[in-house]
This record gives sequence, C-alpha cells and structure tokens, in this order.
Amino acid sequence: EAAAKVAAANADSGAPTIFDKIIAKEIPSTIVYEDDKVLAFRDINPQAPVHVVIIPKNRDGLTELGKAESRHVEILGQLLYAAKKVAEKEGILHGFRVVINNGPEGCQSVYHLHLHLLGGRQMKWPPG
Ligand code: ADP
Repeated sequence: EAAAKVAAANADSGAPTIFDKIIAKEIPSTIVYEDDKVLAFRDINPQAPVHVVIIPKNRDGLTELGKAESRHVEILGQLLYAAKKVAEKEGILHGFRVVINNGPEGCQSVYHLHLHLLGGRQMKWPPG
C-alpha cells in the first residue's frame, strides 16, 4: 500500500496544459526550433529580448524536473542541446541563460517540463 501511495504521488496527473495545445498547434505560437522530440517557441511574456520556451513533445511524466527518472536522461540532454542550437540561431551564443523553474517555490506555473532560454541583454545575478 505504501508503494502504491508513492506511485500515485509520482504519477503524472495527465492533466493537459497549455503546452499540449501548442504542441498540437491548436493555439498559435511562434516556433523557432522543432525536431521529432523537442519544440521551442517564443515566450508570450518575454523577460528578455530573446526568451524561448523549450519543451519535450512527449511529456512522459515530466511535469517538472523533480519528477525525472532514469528513462528521461536522453530527452533531458536533447532539451539542453536544443537550447544551444536555438541560442546559436538567435545570435546569443556569446551570452545567455537557461532556467528551469521547479514547483511552487521555484515559481513554476506550467506543469510540463520546460527550459527558459533568455538572452539579448546583460543578465544579473542572483535571479529574483
Ligand atoms: P512562470 O510563469 O513563473 O515563468 P514557468 O516556468 O512555468 O513559470 O513558465 C511558463 C512560461 O510559459 C511563462 O514564461 C509563460 O509566459 C509562458 N507561456 C504561457 N503560456 C504561453 C503561450 N501560450 N505561449 C507562449 N508562452 C507561454
């Protein structure tokens, strides 16, 4: 029973997010990069001149980084590599930031794992 509870706690709720509609192209987005596994589109509320959201097309339980399992290692690498490719395409290879917000305290609002790629201005540290 304890194991079942843990499994339930770790389960992807399956609830669709706004990103599912973007993947399905049911709502418009400005796609800047796409391959068979990864989709990248401009953030609707940009926090920098370049602000791109990079997501796995198949969520596969990855509502947040904190839910990652060993089966996700390949897609996690693909997402980071896509960030580099988008940074190159956007002309910000000389300086950019990749952010993953995780959970309520991490200010995550969409529960479909995503990387934020930010650039085109001087970044500050620490982030808020
Ligand atoms: P936060 O909203 O605090 O940044 P997240 O890390 O979950 O939390 O980021 C979700 C991001 O998705 C936000 O930057 C938000 O502007 C972006 N977003 C939400 N809806 C859309 C949309 N329809 N098109 C593009 N970006 C979107």
